[in-house]
Order: sequence, then C-alpha cells, then structure tokens
Amino acid sequence: MSVKTVSLPCPNCGKTVMMTEAFPERPFCSKRCKDIDFGDWASESYQIEGSDESAESWSEDQR
Ligand SMILES: [Zn+2]
Repeated sequence: MSVKTVSLPCPNCGKTVMMTEAFPERPFCSKRCKDIDFGDWASESYQIEGSDESAESWSEDQR
C-alpha cells in the first residue's frame, strides 16, 4: 500500500491540516483547536447522559 498525504481543513478554524506527524493534533491544526472542539462535545454528551437516565426509569415503569 502506498502512503498518500491527505490534507483536511481544521474542524474548528478551517486551517489546512496535513495528515502527517507534523500535525500531532490532527484532524485539528493545534492542541488549542482540539481542546475547544472536545469541550463542546463533552458538554453535549453530558446532556445526553442526563436524558438517558430519565428514559431508563421510564421504561422500567413500563415493564
Ligand atoms: Zn484549527
């Protein structure tokens, strides 16, 4: 298999990121962009976790 260098825009700021060791935080351009995106994701998943808990007790009632 041949290794192809792929570049993608940073999901946070849109800067071109090469899928190489030069960008250890890929697909993000930097650790800062990665941390910002992960912070968003973490708060979203926390909300989903909370609604999951109430859904579980509801289905328990149904049984
Ligand atoms: Zn970025």
